[in-house]
Amino acid sequence: MAPKSNSALKIWRDGQLINWDDCNIHIMSHVVHYGSSVFEGVRSYETPNGGAIFRAKEHSRRLVDSCRIYRMAFKYSADEITQAMVDTLAANDLKDAYLRPLVIRTGQSIGVYAPNATIETFVITIPSSPYLGHDSISKGVSARISSWRRPAPSTNPTMAKAGGNYLSSQLAKMEAVADNYNEGIMLDTFGYLSEGSGMNVFCVKDGVLYTAPDAAGILHGITRDTVMKMAADLNIDVREQTILREFLYTCDEVFFCGTAAEVTAVTSVDRIDVGNGKPGPVTLKLQNQYLGIARGQIKDRHHWLTPVPQPAMAGR
Ligand code: PMP
Repeated sequence: MAPKSNSALKIWRDGQLINWDDCNIHIMSHVVHYGSSVFEGVRSYETPNGGAIFRAKEHSRRLVDSCRIYRMAFKYSADEITQAMVDTLAANDLKDAYLRPLVIRTGQSIGVYAPNATIETFVITIPSSPYLGHDSISKGVSARISSWRRPAPSTNPTMAKAGGNYLSSQLAKMEAVADNYNEGIMLDTFGYLSEGSGMNVFCVKDGVLYTAPDAAGILHGITRDTVMKMAADLNIDVREQTILREFLYTCDEVFFCGTAAEVTAVTSVDRIDVGNGKPGPVTLKLQNQYLGIARGQIKDRHHWLTPVPQPAMAGR
């Protein structure tokens, strides 16, 4: 099948599937001025039994939680958002896809305080592609420690996946790319390891996995949770603990994980090779498990896949 242009796709807007080109909001929408948006990034994969969304329920739950943090009166339950994702994929006949559920204050308001501004919900989907570049999954990527830090506690809530949190992510990523690195890794306000611009970080030393805790200003990543559960299944110890910057230079392996980044080796940090500068065995084992489960090639023992029914053949 020839790839569809995005213009041919439908977007779910509060229960209606509308044409891509008709999906507009007003310039005076609160979100445009004040960043009042919360969202998710979700992936579906083609499996031998058709398309399936990976960890849809957990993403829907995090969207509901983000709305609560920002006092947005969200009209939908997590189950309804999961169904909206299924419907959007089915309507667009997409299998390997990226999904973007999005909740925004679209009510027109010039003031910051707009508790009654209209809230609208969208589910957008596009065909997926490797997030960190074509060879990133097999070859790994380079990273630098960003000069931009993650928000301090009680500044921007980092547990919410909110649009505003991505301003510092943009700075970290642009700085990294300008300096010829693939990614930026941010420290927290105290100088401890936090996360990448759009992904969590794991380190491996002497066969043990280490990752930063929520209190280090990370987004509580669903892929991070997936990695921890897969590690438990593989009898790999995981420690959630405060991590020093220099640990990244001295550990055996580093990898990113996230819905978009999947599981991607970090082969150098600040131009210092991680281990031997190649993706390491623990990273590759977890990457293999992750993609195997998501693509339906390894048993879905944790019930992480939500199948997407094939669109009706009638009239096609
Ligand atoms: N941190 C940030 C800042 C992110 O944007 C993402 C991607 N959503 C992640 C971590 C990883 O989260 P998840 O595994 O839920 O996609």
